[in-house]
Amino acid sequence: MKKINGYFSNQSMKEFTVKGIRDAIDEILLTNIYGVTRWSKLVPRKVNVLVWRILINRISTRINLVNKGVDIPSSLCPLCGNSIETCNHIFGQCAVASRLWSLVTKWLQIAPIPLQGPIDIIIYIDNMHVSKDKKDIIEAIIYCVWWSIWKYRNEEVFNNGKNRKEFLFDLIVTQSYMWYSCRCKKKRISWVE
Ligand SMILES: [Zn+2]
Repeated sequence: MKKINGYFSNQSMKEFTVKGIRDAIDEILLTNIYGVTRWSKLVPRKVNVLVWRILINRISTRINLVNKGVDIPSSLCPLCGNSIETCNHIFGQCAVASRLWSLVTKWLQIAPIPLQGPIDIIIYIDNMHVSKDKKDIIEAIIYCVWWSIWKYRNEEVFNNGKNRKEFLFDLIVTQSYMWYSCRCKKKRISWVE
């Protein structure tokens, strides 16, 4: 709160805008554990917020709920049922996630994406020897994978899983292309590219 107060202390109340509040909250919320603001301009705000929450392990995985004292019938992964549902598992080692990472690796023709968990994937992105434009696109696609996994997982848990996991990769390709096209009108790329 100090930061929020500090942020607004230099402004008169007349300048107190919704955007100002949003920017101040983003400044705090989107500061990851490295103390660096991580923000992809190629994906929607809600996706950046999810990524921030993933990186500091503040999402409602079953193990996080158990650790908070929430009484749930099982702490196993709702997608594979083979392991405790941790952040690292659901976004990395789970069979659903690892299949997606394998397909993304082949699609983008990049080195295998680490399955240990989200932080290792961020380190992997930062160490890639590619142009900044390409790195930004790869990062956005990886965020799209996380978004899709979490959305799919929540559908399975709360909505009896109407979506088919076989279509997840196709959805990721379509979704990431649409996000890119909407946000990068100056650097258009064709569907084939
Ligand atoms: Zn699993």
